[in-house]
Amino acid sequence: MSFVRSEIDALTAYHVAPAQGLIKLDAMENPYSLPPTLQKELAQILAQATINRYPDPTANRLTTKLRECFSIAEECEIVLGNGSDEIIQMLAMLVAKPHAKLLTVEPSFTMYQIIATVCQVEYIGVNLREDFNLDVAALLAAIKTHQPALIFLAYPNNPTGNAFHRHDIEQIINAAPGLVVIDEAYFAFAEDTFLADIPQYPNLLVMRTLSKLGFAGLRLGFIVGHARWIQALNKIRMPYNINILSQLAGEFALHHHDVLRGQTQRITQARTDYFACLANFPAFQAYPSQANFILLRVPDANHLFAYFKAAGILVKNLHGTHPQLTNCLRITVGTLDENKQVIDTLQRYKQQHA
Ligand SMILES: *Cc1c(COP(=O)(O)O)cnc(C)c1O
Repeated sequence: MSFVRSEIDALTAYHVAPAQGLIKLDAMENPYSLPPTLQKELAQILAQATINRYPDPTANRLTTKLRECFSIAEECEIVLGNGSDEIIQMLAMLVAKPHAKLLTVEPSFTMYQIIATVCQVEYIGVNLREDFNLDVAALLAAIKTHQPALIFLAYPNNPTGNAFHRHDIEQIINAAPGLVVIDEAYFAFAEDTFLADIPQYPNLLVMRTLSKLGFAGLRLGFIVGHARWIQALNKIRMPYNINILSQLAGEFALHHHDVLRGQTQRITQARTDYFACLANFPAFQAYPSQANFILLRVPDANHLFAYFKAAGILVKNLHGTHPQLTNCLRITVGTLDENKQVIDTLQRYKQQHA
């Protein structure tokens, strides 16, 4: 295998834990499916898809629907990706000159680092403060030293769940010599967005996905920004990256945006209820969340993770992935029944290990 680049040899493939038979609370999926009547309608639409033809390379109808649903300003352009993961990859390829750098914070979404490595862009990770807010001084210093071509900030952040302070992010955008991507994968559960700020900053892009909204299986992400950057990304994008079934299902989903909004509101409410329950467990520290998951610091994460699994619940064990995530678990907010099972399991654990 000597022809494979050594940094690829050193990587481990993105790990997805097997979840068969378990309540799946490890990947921030929406636990609700479409109502049966909409499922039937969708089946009919998909049955008529012209799968013998190549799909519309620009996914024009889906893009128009996205503009409408998310009130995207006319002067902004959009490009779609096969999940936002693919968009992160396109961005990395766009800037991948020798010695180009991608900067983000840690702990954050691990795909930024994996993709940087694969695309031969140097990765710079700046630690968050202990409370998981931005260390603005450290970031400004790193920007000055490294002159990153690309900065990613997940807003709200994964896996910490908090949304950074807007004023802090604005300082980063103003100081950045290159592109700044605000990754709003969790916008549906958050209080704020940078979408309306794009016209004001020539180097700002806002990325979103339908994954956490209820369509992780469709693989549909998009990024919004000034025409100049979107046109450049379109040169890199594979011509038919969004297949016809995803285009049609995405259009359909957005047409029923009210149903999605109902589901995300239930999840957001359930998150509030969760925090109320977690207040009864002083040994577990729950970090504030504007996303559809909760980061929990516990006395022994490996032990509690195994206990959850034995109880039929799969959460994400973050222990060992970053020094600031020692003894942390990340738990997706699920249905009311799933959340109750989590709390009941915590209750049993607490009684047995008091
Ligand atoms: C889940 C997640 C994504 C990935 O979204 P896809 O569209 O499913 O590829 C991107 N960014 C963050 C911060 C995420 O948590």
